[in-house]
Parts: sequence; structure tokens; C-alpha cells
Amino acid sequence: IVRMEKLNKHFGDLHVLNDIDLEVTPGEVVVIIGASGSGKSTLIRCINGLEEFQKGFLEVDGNQLEPHGKASRALRQIRTEVGMVFQQFNLFPHLSVQDNVTLAPTKVRHASPDDAHKTALKLLERVGIADQAEKFPSQLSGGQQQRVALSRALAMEPKLMLFDEPTSALDPEMIGEVLDAMRELARDGMTMIIVTHEMGFAREVADRVIYIHKGEIVEQGTPEQVFDNPQHERTRSFLARVL
Ligand code: ATP
Ligand code: MG
Repeated sequence: IVRMEKLNKHFGDLHVLNDIDLEVTPGEVVVIIGASGSGKSTLIRCINGLEEFQKGFLEVDGNQLEPHGKASRALRQIRTEVGMVFQQFNLFPHLSVQDNVTLAPTKVRHASPDDAHKTALKLLERVGIADQAEKFPSQLSGGQQQRVALSRALAMEPKLMLFDEPTSALDPEMIGEVLDAMRELARDGMTMIIVTHEMGFAREVADRVIYIHKGEIVEQGTPEQVFDNPQHERTRSFLARVL
């Protein structure tokens, strides 16, 4: 569903992504790991057009994104097909939980309010917070807010979900509930690209782990290959620091 070839991205003089090749197939769960500043966020933000790139090929579900990020039909299509969950939950503070979840389906997909409402409750139920539907984001815990963000993304029936350190802003006791929701999503066959520092979780859910260093993919493989038998010195020293 994602085909990226020799993707290059610069911020001014800074070469942030260097000839990245990445293919993701439907149903695959890919976890991206790497040190701070290695380009993980930039990489996944390129996939839904939040960052433009300068050189290379990128196609998401058959929609080709051009270098230099020209607004295009392909970009709009990708935005409706790709869901994203951020470290900061980015909920609309002035909308109730329920309205956060129904907004995009009613505005973008023109779902009827009734259908959107039913879907929202189903999604909130699935992540265990249906009883919070009438509240506002500020009245919820971080773990609950992140589960709202997940429900909101899923309400658009995405073909691909991107996660950028979804548990990094959470207190330790709330990390589990968000990871549980993601685990279930993976089990249900969602295609997912996840940036995370939760190595135990990565080992459990990833079909493939990719290690990025200074904007290059240094190593990738199954969790067993990358975590138990890393081939590159850089991967070894990174894992020694985080495991
Ligand atoms: P972290 O683990 O800290 O989130 P990361 O791997 O996600 O790091 P990125 O956020 O992708 O790293 O950043 C990669 C590099 O690009 C860093 O050197 C960062 O300072 C730089 N960078 C990121 N965003 C911008 C921007 N908008 N303008 C200029 N430089 C940027
Ligand atoms: Mg980041």
C-alpha cells in the first residue's frame, strides 16, 4: 500500500532522509526505531503529505505524491485514506469526545449524523471509553484522550494508520491501555506504521522492524532478527542503550 523509492528530504542544509526505500504491504505492521533526530517523524509525515520531500518516488494506495508537495488530488485522496495518531493527541478542545470522532466523517465523507454517531459509539466502545462520549478532552486522562484520537482516526475507515510515538506523552500507567488498543487493531489486520520506543510492544506486534540512523535505513527485519541478532554495529549500540 506504500511504495517509497529513493526518497530524499532536506530541511535547508540538513539532509534528513537519504535514499529511503520502503514498501509496506496491506495488513503489515511496521515499527520504526532509531535515535532522536534520526528522521523517524519526518519519514512517516512524508507518507501522508504532512512534509514534502525533494526527490524520489512515493505512492500510497496508488496515489502518487510529487516532490515539492504540490497540492493535488492524490494528496487529498491520501489524507482521507491514511489515519494518524500523534504524540500530542491534537483533539479539538472545544468539541465533545463524540463530536471529535464524528466531525471528519460528517464533513468529509458526508455521513449522516445518525450513522456517524453510531459508528463513533462503536469505536469508543471498542477502546473502552464509550462512557466518556459526552465529555470534553480536557476532562479526560491522557490515555483516554489518546484512545479518542485513535477512534477519531478510525472513524474515517483508513486503509493505513500512522503512529508517531503515541505513548511518549503518557504517564506510565496509561501506556498499557493505548498499546492494548493498538494491539487489537493490529490483530484485526490494520496496516500500521508505528514509531515507538516501546521495544516490548514492537517485538510483539511488528511484522518488520526498521532501524533508522541519520536518515538512512541501516537495518530491517523481523523483530527476532533486529532485536536478537542485529547485524550492524550501530543497531547494536542503539539497542544496548534502549533495551
Ligand atoms: P525524535 O525521536 O526526537 O522524535 P525523529 O527521529 O522523529 O526524532 P525528526 O523529527 O524526523 O526526528 O527530525 C529529523 C531531523 O530533522 C532533526 O535533526 C530535526 O532537528 C530536523 N527537523 C525536523 N523538523 C524540522 C523542521 N520543521 N525544520 C527544520 N528541521 C527540522
Ligand atoms: Mg519524532
